[in-house]
Amino acid sequence: MAASSNSSLSGSSLSSDPEDYQPPIWKSYLYQLQQEAPRPKRMTCPQEMESRPKYYGREFHGRISREYADELLATAEGAYLIRESQRQPGTHTLALRFGHQTLNYRLFYDGKHFVGEKRFESVHDLVTDALITLYIETKAAEYIAKMTTNPIYEHLGYTSLLKDKTVHRLNRGRTEPRRVTFQRDERIASPLVRRTVLKDAPEKQCSYEKMHNFKVHTFRGPHWCEYCANFMWGLIAQGVRCSDCGLNVHKQCSKLVPSDCQPDLRRIKKVFSCDLTTLVKAHNSTRPMVVDMCIQEIELRGMKSEGLYRVSGFSEHIEDVRLAFDRDGDKADISASAYADINIIAGALKLYLRDLPIPVITFELYSKFIQAARIPNADTRLEAIHESLLQLPPAHYETLRYLMAHLKRVTLFEKYNLMNAENLGIVFGPTLMQPPEMNALTTLNDMRLQKLVVQLMIEHEDVLF
Ligand SMILES: [Zn+2]
Ligand SMILES: [Zn+2]
Repeated sequence: MAASSNSSLSGSSLSSDPEDYQPPIWKSYLYQLQQEAPRPKRMTCPQEMESRPKYYGREFHGRISREYADELLATAEGAYLIRESQRQPGTHTLALRFGHQTLNYRLFYDGKHFVGEKRFESVHDLVTDALITLYIETKAAEYIAKMTTNPIYEHLGYTSLLKDKTVHRLNRGRTEPRRVTFQRDERIASPLVRRTVLKDAPEKQCSYEKMHNFKVHTFRGPHWCEYCANFMWGLIAQGVRCSDCGLNVHKQCSKLVPSDCQPDLRRIKKVFSCDLTTLVKAHNSTRPMVVDMCIQEIELRGMKSEGLYRVSGFSEHIEDVRLAFDRDGDKADISASAYADINIIAGALKLYLRDLPIPVITFELYSKFIQAARIPNADTRLEAIHESLLQLPPAHYETLRYLMAHLKRVTLFEKYNLMNAENLGIVFGPTLMQPPEMNALTTLNDMRLQKLVVQLMIEHEDVLF
């Protein structure tokens, strides 16, 4: 929430359902403390110092001693100056009066001024922020330590506001994985029967979790934490903001916020290269529209196309498709009149999958799939792949399931398109699976296994999913 969260002091901007909505009570204690914090007082040097770097002003006093600086500053809280270190010439120290003592910080400049993590346009801003932080963290240390213990978040914050938005969820038994045994028992050996076994297993509604995507944020004007309801103090980088849903919280509160991010379409600028779960949540869909639309188009007019997925389309045209999706989302035109060559659509789908920040088979589960592929016994191997599939995040699982069912149908046209599970495995192996750490040797060794994983998923699509 931007500056509007201040108006939510009155509760107006947060309300979605006036019936059961209660405005959060923002806690102003830390705000009051910030107002009370000592203001910076620049102690200027009476004469111009020749050694003064051009990015410092008259607060630079040259190579004076620590004791002398202490004397100069003793007059007032918030007084500060910069001196050059006597022991290490060329390095600079910010001397700052706070709590009736002089604090010394090694001061750096690289286009911005900093003594710690935060970077400032001016030394004055740095000191203002330091005084606020010192003041609040001294006065309210205990309060801050306890402020996360009774969050407003669960009661009237974020989750309750999003209730109706999150109705649409994937139905998949993730908490209770569907079990299936691969036995050489004739009674359940046929894929059809196995499938029935799967279908009968109870499906439990799963919650569709997504972590927030917090980034350090500088708020203009006073802002309150949407987790603990306390003021976010400081001059810059006062807290973090989720770049997918816009939730604003303290850095320390961000670690306690549940993974219930509901991305806001206005914040999701692109379709390609956007995290799969984020995109799907933002659009309230089960799969990314690129996957659905490309597959539908290919099934409509490309199933008999020789070398489907192997032959590449013109890369400029593929790039066009990408731009169309990024610009128009599900309104993108990928019909035959726009792109007569089906290899362009197939290429766009492959590009989409390859460009995901987290591959369809996640980095986390990559080695599990590779280990599974190494198992020599065919049944045990299939079971291990099945186990791994059940651990995929729902959006990833659903995308993979849909894609594999499609690729299976592609192989039914092998007579025309010359594509079978094996060569589709070669094409899609590295597209769907990438090792968490790229390393020429492992990549080469893993390629055979990536191919095998995809090949097996296509061949046994009906049992695995
Ligand atoms: Zn979020
Ligand atoms: Zn907080």
